[in-house]
Amino acid sequence: MVNEWELKKLFIELGKRIWQRNYVAANDGNMTVRINDREILTTPTGISKGFMTTDMIIKVDYNGNVISGNPDYRPSSEVKMHIDVYKERPDINAVVHAHPPFATSFAVAGIPLDKCVLPEAVIVIGAVPIAKYGLPSTDELPDKIRPHIKKNDVVLLENHGALALGPDLLTAYYRMETLEHTANIVSKAIQLGNLGVLPEAERDRLMTLRDKFNLQGKITTCDSTPYDNYNTPKINTAEFNNNSSKISDEQIRRITESVLATLRK
Ligand SMILES: [Zn+2]
Repeated sequence: MVNEWELKKLFIELGKRIWQRNYVAANDGNMTVRINDREILTTPTGISKGFMTTDMIIKVDYNGNVISGNPDYRPSSEVKMHIDVYKERPDINAVVHAHPPFATSFAVAGIPLDKCVLPEAVIVIGAVPIAKYGLPSTDELPDKIRPHIKKNDVVLLENHGALALGPDLLTAYYRMETLEHTANIVSKAIQLGNLGVLPEAERDRLMTLRDKFNLQGKITTCDSTPYDNYNTPKINTAEFNNNSSKISDEQIRRITESVLATLRK
């Protein structure tokens, strides 16, 4: 039996974390939980997720019609997208949608987070695809997401944000955290000049661990082929090496002179 009061309190707690962790700006983002085959709890539209109170959480049916809730608040404008997930995936009971900046940057750059980089991410979220852009709050968005959620619990939304699914609300939220944490590290490694990719044999060992831990949910196996620069701008290395060797020679000459001068004293 689902305790709705406890669920509403969890909505408030996770809403604060999503806002404080910069996963959303202003009133962006939304969360829902499936209570049963008739009822869904949703966050309200037009309210910052960091300032929600339990009386703002609304219960809707599978057509998005309000069943109960404070009449001052209306259901999330993206509730259609969430309902579509529940219809497609009987194993999913919670959906979290946010715009975390690192993950969303990949969605804007058109770069899927599909490389095998961090062990946790390999087994928890796998290769994260990008669903094509769809106009928010319309049927376009669920239409574009549907093919991906058949195989993945975490999806990037092109020029928009990210979606994380879970058997419960906390798991869906944690998957969003893992996504953003991974995107942050991957983007910084690319800036540092190299993305080290775990080879196929290591990926396979990790996937065996995933089976051993009996991790639930759907993931697509990540890509273990070496990083090919994702078309990031390249430094002209020939010129750079030339300049640095000139500087080095000059420095060596000065250091040598200074050492010899000290020895002569
Ligand atoms: Zn959004």
